[in-house]
Amino acid sequence: MAHIFCIANQKGGVGKTTTTVNLAAGLAQIGQRVLLVDLDPQGNATMGSGVDKRGLKLSVYEVLLESAGVREAVQRAPAAGYDVLGANRELAGAEVELVALAQRERRLKAALAQVAQDYDFVLIDCPPSLGLLTLNGLCAAHGVIVPMQCEYFALEGLSDLVNTIKQVHAKLNPDLQIIGILRVMFDPRITLQQQVSEQLKGHFGDKVFDTVIPRNVRLAEAPSYGQPGVVFDPAAKGSQAFVAFASEMVARVQRL
Ligand code: ADP
Ligand code: MG
Repeated sequence: MAHIFCIANQKGGVGKTTTTVNLAAGLAQIGQRVLLVDLDPQGNATMGSGVDKRGLKLSVYEVLLESAGVREAVQRAPAAGYDVLGANRELAGAEVELVALAQRERRLKAALAQVAQDYDFVLIDCPPSLGLLTLNGLCAAHGVIVPMQCEYFALEGLSDLVNTIKQVHAKLNPDLQIIGILRVMFDPRITLQQQVSEQLKGHFGDKVFDTVIPRNVRLAEAPSYGQPGVVFDPAAKGSQAFVAFASEMVARVQRL
């Protein structure tokens, strides 16, 4: 049975997509069967996996509206060894179209049940909002991975997400838990970042992953080559950190 995790944070530009794509590639590299689900209409995780969002015949949109099954809609990330259920702008419409449908929050959960045996990990890249798409992700998942920059106000922003997760846990998905908080774009030379990092550990204890993802320009360059950083430049510090994170995840799920 696949472990299904959402990569979520209601802020944009915090590293959700970079985390999803590189964790997927890192897990694939250590022999895990991975499906990446792009739930963001921007389609960045799709493009960053080397799948052209403009050429998608079927996407997560058709899957949510039940006009396609997951198996027929997935594609292989050409260089990275995992499968992609892609997204493009069409998905923005789903946020509205789903409202009128039965089981509107549980559509993705029902769809992923079709492929639970095919994968070890399903990673869902969420959009930067707490709308119906993210809700579908949270309902489908066993846990949430929260990428976070160690900046001022970071903890404050986290409380909205933690409250949403608590509500979803109480009302819609009793399985849901925070798997962990991942410190990303970290620069140890910045004292403030070290301080916020310590605060995070004080608040969340062992829910803070051991692995820290450094700020690394190779991770930012990789998407324009249609590859996860882990594949594009395996020697880069950021890539090595994501491979270490993949190992940490494999160890962590054994304790769930
Ligand atoms: P989100 O999906 O939360 O909007 P992204 O993963 O797209 O965030 O990241 C936002 C921007 O920061 C992108 O331009 C990305 O390439 C860059 N970025 C993400 N992580 C890193 C990192 N560790 N080092 C350098 N740049 C990064
Ligand atoms: Mg994103």
